[in-house]
Amino acid sequence: MPSLGVLADARIIVVGAGAVGSCAAYRLAQAGATVTIVERGYPGGATSGNSFAWLNALGNFPKHYYRLRTNSIRAHRELEQELSGDWLTLNGGLHWVSSTGQSQFELTESLKRLQTWGARVDAYTPDELARSVEPGLSLEKEEVETVFHIRDEGWLQPALMIRSLLHRAAGEYGARVINATVTEMLGGPGEVTGVVLDSGDRLEADVVILAAGPDSPGLASLAGAVLPVETNFGILAVTAPAPAMIQHVVIAPDLFIRPDGGGRILATSDSLLSVPADMVPSAELPEIKKLRDRLSELVPGLYDVPFEAFRRGVRALPEDGYPIVGFDPGVNGLYYAVMHSGITLGAGMADLIVDDLSDPDFDGLAHYRPDRFTPGRTFQGPAGE
Ligand SMILES: Cc1cc2nc3c(=O)[nH]c(=O)nc-3n(C[C@H](O)[C@H](O)[C@H](O)COP(=O)(O)OP(=O)(O)OC[C@H]3O[C@@H](n4cnc5c(N)ncnc54)[C@H](O)[C@@H]3O)c2cc1C
Repeated sequence: MPSLGVLADARIIVVGAGAVGSCAAYRLAQAGATVTIVERGYPGGATSGNSFAWLNALGNFPKHYYRLRTNSIRAHRELEQELSGDWLTLNGGLHWVSSTGQSQFELTESLKRLQTWGARVDAYTPDELARSVEPGLSLEKEEVETVFHIRDEGWLQPALMIRSLLHRAAGEYGARVINATVTEMLGGPGEVTGVVLDSGDRLEADVVILAAGPDSPGLASLAGAVLPVETNFGILAVTAPAPAMIQHVVIAPDLFIRPDGGGRILATSDSLLSVPADMVPSAELPEIKKLRDRLSELVPGLYDVPFEAFRRGVRALPEDGYPIVGFDPGVNGLYYAVMHSGITLGAGMADLIVDDLSDPDFDGLAHYRPDRFTPGRTFQGPAGE
């Protein structure tokens, strides 16, 4: 249980009911704060609902960021048990690269580093994989030498998680969820004391947390603050329901897939995860046709199963790639919870935010503070390590 500390007296507004805002709001309400969540659409309807939602710690990261991600995956497990949910699958992710070329070396080196930090990784031949792990996949032995199974990976269903979090936050801990758009900040120069809604209502608070994903910079600018966050679009395709048995997240060359509930498979690829803002997904798009072919090749059971729907999401990307969490250095009362990989990071970040707001000496977020972007400051944070 998080410490009650000063939170028991605090009025906190969380702007945004995506994965990040909902996890934070739940933990803060549970810790005794008076929490109001303001969401302009429906909870989980923005980036979080259009995410591939793969929980992972794979990447060329410094150790503290690897730890942040693995701790958060653990925190997701605790959250799901606590809420008796059914939105989380942590049966590991399957990875391989083409057996020729540089990327094979890069993946193996990356995995070696993760293993020295405690990651559990198994290696299979394509035959072993088909026999005992994922029979629905068909791999060409000439193309694939080894398939790695990173055991502590998985995925979650954001909408189900968010629903449970908000339900319990409101029902058990008295949080209020308001369907409205924040249009202005209350306060004066260098201070935020609440928000104004599109209805004209004014809500006062000790802390306003911006967890509005890609809309966070616009909201910060209402208080005269600058949040160095860019945006980036991605496209996902969902198959019709089919009995093809895929049980893991699969990260393969030109294809990322995972189950999406009800027999559907969610699919995307490197090239579809970062697309121009005006790209409209459809079955006729060459990138989608390529995805379709690749899916049939790799999962023969999906050969004639069509894509049923497409999702298009826009994600927030902090300038240096790392989360921005904490008070704005120049605006009292304005707190940011803005990050890429907010699905992976949401649960763990919520615990850290509770600690941060309860303990003035807390340094568990030192690498991710907003003041690293203050002009003139020599940044010693994540990117330098
Ligand atoms: C295609 C794609 C694939 C991805 N894959 C992964 C992945 O595999 N793993 C992973 O960890 N991450 C992944 N991400 C990133 C991840 O989805 C996001 O980091 C995460 O969903 C962000 O959650 P959030 O709560 O910060 O933002 P959001 O989910 O966008 O929530 C913010 C909320 O704020 C609300 N809001 C905005 N402005 C206002 C306002 N003025 N007033 C009131 N409410 C407002 C919005 O309506 C929205 O509901 C992916 C993203 C995309 C686009």
